[in-house]
Amino acid sequence: MTGSTFLQIDPPSPGQWIQVSEGLLWARMRIPAKLDHINIYLVEDDDGWFLVDTGPDTLVNRDLWRELVTGLPRRAKLSRVLVTHSHPDHIGLAGWLQAELGVPIYISSGAQNWALREAEERKGRSAQAVAAFYGRMGVHPEEVVHLHAALGQMDPLFGPVASEVSLVQAGGMMRIGGRDWELWVGSGHSIEHVCLYQRASRLLIAGDQVLAKITPLVGVSYMSPEGNPLADWFASLTDMQRWLPNDALVLPAHGQPFYGGARRIGAVLEHHESSLATLRSSLVDWCTVHELSHVLGWGGLKGMARYMALDETLAHITYLVRRGEVVESPSTIGGVYRYRLDLPPSAPS
Ligand SMILES: [Zn+2]
Repeated sequence: MTGSTFLQIDPPSPGQWIQVSEGLLWARMRIPAKLDHINIYLVEDDDGWFLVDTGPDTLVNRDLWRELVTGLPRRAKLSRVLVTHSHPDHIGLAGWLQAELGVPIYISSGAQNWALREAEERKGRSAQAVAAFYGRMGVHPEEVVHLHAALGQMDPLFGPVASEVSLVQAGGMMRIGGRDWELWVGSGHSIEHVCLYQRASRLLIAGDQVLAKITPLVGVSYMSPEGNPLADWFASLTDMQRWLPNDALVLPAHGQPFYGGARRIGAVLEHHESSLATLRSSLVDWCTVHELSHVLGWGGLKGMARYMALDETLAHITYLVRRGEVVESPSTIGGVYRYRLDLPPSAPS
């Protein structure tokens, strides 16, 4: 039970658009994965259609874009593109859309910097850095080799990074086709994730920040091992929950548009709290992140799903460590870190 009410409208086929409301279109692009689609929203602008997110870079999606653009109502033109965050299904075709159609790109500076860093990383991912990162979680060296391979699986979905971008920031405003859209920026799922909110019409273009049925990945990346993304995620969700009314229509990047955004955020917060409670009950003994990922039910996962599960387990452990609830083993055996609740010393008997 998510507490959400779904918009009663059939989703568009990939490369097609449907109208959600006056001046707002919904389209879809394909993702070559279990999560098989991304929603794309188009807002009527003064000189064309303002686009939010692009889909991953595949030949199929490039063709779908050519088809979509020629079939847009009134004007077959994209005026601007806002990229919500730097994950490949959102940013993948931004550089291509800019080069092919000359569309200006808008993005947060954090997301653009991360995209540039990742582009460098894709040229030569350091096996050593990956081995050190997963090795300290207690992952067996043989499995680390698989994780290193899995980390490269998404690489082809990142197209060229847009060379020229306009930077947007929290608290900003974008005027699109005579209406003001507020810019809100959250973190935790990714760095500086932008959402667009139209207050008068109560429309939230949410990216991955609020999804009705799935909870977005919140993981520590080997490229930013000192991060505390779960704390960022809690802060972002709590902030959004304060101002997002339940009667606003949430237009998410995956799944069906829905009402009840604040209630859904409450359910997502509860989901993470319940994972933390599960971890606490195991942490009476010293555990590795690898062992704790099994406790959370993620032991049998393979490939990309496996490293995401480890990254997410580490995010939860890091959160507990930074809160002072859990301690990290002061000396490591074979470079493996272990964790345990910071228990008060037991009374002498
Ligand atoms: Zn994402």
